[in-house]
Amino acid sequence: MEQYQIDDMLSNLQSYLESWGINTRRHFRCLNPDHSDSNASMKYFDDNKCYCFGCGAVYNLVDCISSLENVDRKEAYKRAINKYSFSDRKVRVEKPIEKKEESHKNYEKAYSVWKYNLTKNSKAKEYLKQRGLSEETIKRFNLGFNSFDFGEFNYNAIVIPISNSCYTTRNIDKEQTEIRYYKSKGTQSALFNPSALTNDKPYCVIVEGEFDCMSFETLGKNCIALCGANNIDKFISADKRNDKIYVLALDKDVAGIKTTNALKDYFDEYEMNYIEFDFGDYKDPNEALVKDREQFSDLCEEMVYDVMKCKERIDRKKLKQDIEM
Ligand SMILES: [Zn+2]
Repeated sequence: MEQYQIDDMLSNLQSYLESWGINTRRHFRCLNPDHSDSNASMKYFDDNKCYCFGCGAVYNLVDCISSLENVDRKEAYKRAINKYSFSDRKVRVEKPIEKKEESHKNYEKAYSVWKYNLTKNSKAKEYLKQRGLSEETIKRFNLGFNSFDFGEFNYNAIVIPISNSCYTTRNIDKEQTEIRYYKSKGTQSALFNPSALTNDKPYCVIVEGEFDCMSFETLGKNCIALCGANNIDKFISADKRNDKIYVLALDKDVAGIKTTNALKDYFDEYEMNYIEFDFGDYKDPNEALVKDREQFSDLCEEMVYDVMKCKERIDRKKLKQDIEM
């Protein structure tokens, strides 16, 4: 199954819950069997997930089937496929992701309001400062602040526009809710700062998170974020220059290493050039920036030097080939 088909399948969560008589506009009893929920702590959100504000569970369609029908995840996945099959989709859509986005909302107006909100909110500004971002980067990426009304509480968050039709957020007020972040619909399939793939910079750093990307950009380094470790397909199908030197700087956890290896295979296959960025003992680039800005800055300059060396090698090789021809 292609990722967009899986996303399509998972987007049936709301109707699935409704089929069990659950009102998705209200909070309901948490579906996590390990959480005996005396209040209604779980809520459905339009990113096709349910969030529990008691135990922190985040459930997608497969998790909900597994819980409500009391089967393991493997069986639940099978049932999800059977129930929401794609037999009607005989022809593969050329560019499924763009097609999907057409039906999405346009948040441009909201972004300008949220951007204004940020200028008036010292807690939000302080949060971004602590994450190490420069004023210029905050402006360029159109960051904002909004207090989302989630019914029983407000979710106070930094808003990071991914495109005009989707955004991600970061909770800056843990007293209200434990949710770390919330993404609008469609965010799963989008890359952050995709112009980094097509501009005339000779290299492009690849990271996982939006804050990692803005960490590099804060130091003037050209960078794209995959928005999660699993978004390789989107990267592969994105418009990009094949003559760039790609710099791998993904998280140093299992998922990040897996993605790094998958990207290396891809670059090898298409004879694209890449180097790896070592951000020391830190778990991701943003942590490296926050904990030791000077060292991170030095590492970035070394990276640019490595890119230049790599470029020279490529040019020499090309020249040699030209001469020998
Ligand atoms: Zn729960």
